[in-house]
Amino acid sequence: TTRRLTGFKPTGHLHLGNLLGALRPLIAAQDGTASITLIADLHALTLDHDPERVRALTLEQATVMLAAGVDPERTPIVVQSHVPEITELHYLLECATGFGEAARMIQFKEKSSGGGHVRLSLLTYPVLMAADILAHDIVQVPVGEDQNQHLELARTLATRFNARYGRTFTVPEGVRPEAAARVMDLADPTTKMGKSTGTGRIALLDPPDVVRRTVARAVTDELAVVRRDPGRQPGVTNLIDILAACAGREPADPHSYGKLKREVTDAVEAVLAPIRSRHAALAGDPGHVREILAEGARQVRPRAFATVRRTRAALGLLDQD
Ligand code: ATP
Ligand code: MG
Repeated sequence: TTRRLTGFKPTGHLHLGNLLGALRPLIAAQDGTASITLIADLHALTLDHDPERVRALTLEQATVMLAAGVDPERTPIVVQSHVPEITELHYLLECATGFGEAARMIQFKEKSSGGGHVRLSLLTYPVLMAADILAHDIVQVPVGEDQNQHLELARTLATRFNARYGRTFTVPEGVRPEAAARVMDLADPTTKMGKSTGTGRIALLDPPDVVRRTVARAVTDELAVVRRDPGRQPGVTNLIDILAACAGREPADPHSYGKLKREVTDAVEAVLAPIRSRHAALAGDPGHVREILAEGARQVRPRAFATVRRTRAALGLLDQD
């Protein structure tokens, strides 16, 4: 079976984009792949953060993942900071990464360009991401456009390390999520829906009236025709795609934005209602969720430990036994 890794940063509430673009494919592939779901809490520390919020979001995301159908028996849910081997591998990989290589990353340039305090961890973020992937001998990483360059760096580091120090890492490959897996912001359909960006977001735990209002306010256009045209009608296209992903069908009326929005509201509600109710049940027993996280870390640590051992040895560190 193919080993896969999908990561989520606890930077905000999980939303419809996270579900359709990442969680659903992950859940659908639970039988055919050996997937790991990573809650990348260390990555959430690379930008200004609120400690209590990161802690609360880590538990909330795990609970929502379970509610959405992630089966921890087949797909361990792992909190990144619970696997110290990842952090150790991060350092070892830093010793195989050029400063210029990291400084070249587009996301680093974008996120550090605003002036003000820039954390050193923002620069080394892609090296940590490489450690996430390489620690577990991951073969496939589903990545969106925004993580492409980081995945390329992970591949470069693994390949170069293997060539210089002997075969140590599995070289991962990126897999594209299926078409229409990119959900756009409802208030600004030219940007993607994000946990920490934009205002037109449907969180998976939003109550029905909030969902209805967010969809009702979704930006459309004056063309008055319900047609898939990403260039000229990004808002309408986004709604059509959401309807297709949630209900598996096309809009009923080609001339009414009002009807389209009502259909989208109903389709989204049908997807969210069961998640919301399973979440309510799970949230009543946080100890159970924490036990699942502990088990997730227990499951993946031996392999990560083996990777770190190989890496240490390859780099010339004296072993302890
Ligand atoms: P942030 O704004 O903090 O970057 P995010 O919403 O982009 O948050 P991530 O934690 O970066 O979420 O990504 C989690 C997973 O969800 C990734 O696999 C990513 O590709 C996917 N994803 C994020 N946003 C969308 C979206 N709008 N449509 C489809 N998939 C998405
Ligand atoms: Mg993101």
